[in-house]
Amino acid sequence: MVRQILPTQNNAPVLVIGGGPAGCTMAILLAESGRECIVIEDGNTPEMIVGESLIPAVVPILKRLGVTDTIDKVCNRKPGVTFLHDELEPVEFRFPINRNGVPNFSWNAPRPSFDKVLRDRAVEVGARFVLQRAGLEKGIVGGKELALDEETLVAAGLKEQPSFIIDATGRVRIAAKTLGIEASRGTRTDISHFAHFTGGMRPDPAGTVVIIRLAGGGWAWVIPLPDRVSIGIVVGKEIAKSLGATAEERLANVMANEPLLQPYASGAKCISKTATYSNYQLTSTRGHGAGWASIGDAYGFVDPMLSSGLFMGLESARSLFDATFGAGLSPDDARRWSKAADGHYRDMGRWFRSWEELISYFYNGDLFRLCLAGGEATQKYNNPVSRFMEMQTSRRISGMASGATTRSPINRNFLRFVIRNLTWGARPADELKIR
Ligand SMILES: Cc1cc2nc3c(=O)[nH]c(=O)nc-3n(C[C@H](O)[C@H](O)[C@H](O)COP(=O)(O)OP(=O)(O)OC[C@H]3O[C@@H](n4cnc5c(N)ncnc54)[C@H](O)[C@@H]3O)c2cc1C
Repeated sequence: MVRQILPTQNNAPVLVIGGGPAGCTMAILLAESGRECIVIEDGNTPEMIVGESLIPAVVPILKRLGVTDTIDKVCNRKPGVTFLHDELEPVEFRFPINRNGVPNFSWNAPRPSFDKVLRDRAVEVGARFVLQRAGLEKGIVGGKELALDEETLVAAGLKEQPSFIIDATGRVRIAAKTLGIEASRGTRTDISHFAHFTGGMRPDPAGTVVIIRLAGGGWAWVIPLPDRVSIGIVVGKEIAKSLGATAEERLANVMANEPLLQPYASGAKCISKTATYSNYQLTSTRGHGAGWASIGDAYGFVDPMLSSGLFMGLESARSLFDATFGAGLSPDDARRWSKAADGHYRDMGRWFRSWEELISYFYNGDLFRLCLAGGEATQKYNNPVSRFMEMQTSRRISGMASGATTRSPINRNFLRFVIRNLTWGARPADELKIR
């Protein structure tokens, strides 16, 4: 591969902390552009990692990283999502064909295999991986806010500080925590338990992810992976306590007692540990500073509903790279660098707000109310106008959930309009919401 050497005043390596999907995306782009890049990864990856259902908007990024053929071999394709609501007919979303270069499918990813594909690619294009838990120190060193501690410098084989530090440590948020940067929290305080199973019913059509509103509160996912199915629950903390003392008990309790989940649970054998995640709705109030920037979950994560997390991790790396290193900027040119990075984080803000709004319609019942009203209108009037509106609404929601048109002002305004004006007579959203 021909490498393009970018103009820079400071040729010291760029150091990425964290070799998850966001860190590896940044490492691949840096190495391919001719930048020396070191990834410090602590290897502290749990057996069970969430982030198994991807949205179609990841496909163009993975294509750019040169990994789609390998991903296609280790993951299975996902054509869409079916929402099962205990009081409504199933709502099926198929991803729309080719919007903004985004195809009509994505993948369900066994995370260890998915992460390995990205790591192998980063090594192949020249990034150097160091197995070490990185440590940072606060303080202005050479005009930079953060410095690697001595142990990390030695482990990385560096005699001087890197030219730039990228924090891709996920929820560890090493840079923000070292600098005492606060995170704004989302409105939900759910807890999630999940595990892998063989033997139960698999969603149909093949690869479809099933999201279930649980009668007892919260929601569940069924994600078909190549040789197993991932089943997870997302419930409020009080509901979780009432379901049992341990993660295993709670998951088993919901799988045994929720009618819409039972077909997937019946005959299913658990083949993994049950993992727990909580307190995950976090976005840093500042994403970058002199000599550092954060990407992926280390910067922010909205919510597991609609599976935007991995896409946002990859996109935040791509977008920061393109705005800065990829545009030939040097971190030493602090004024231009900072302006470009500010633009990137404003863009991230637009992504977060758009996902938050779309996701809120699922939680607060508006979306289910809209589906109910649309179905009733089509049945009652069955005229071209009602059919057109139903088709438009469904297509726009699918496009937004795929990541292709999530931020489109036209689509966002359209959804606001139909929710406000075309839901007359339908049951109140409050009765249909996810508790
Ligand atoms: C309940 C739940 C369900 C989810 N479901 C989905 C889903 O279906 N689809 C989806 O797209 N997203 C989902 N997500 C989000 C998704 O898991 C994350 O957005 C994604 O994993 C973030 O990737 P990342 O690279 O930023 O961080 P991570 O994947 O967390 O990677 C961070 C890496 O940094 C390493 N590290 C940490 N600290 C250090 C250190 N000091 N030194 C060296 N290395 C370090 C870690 O070991 C790890 O390898 C879900 C999240 C939750 C909470």
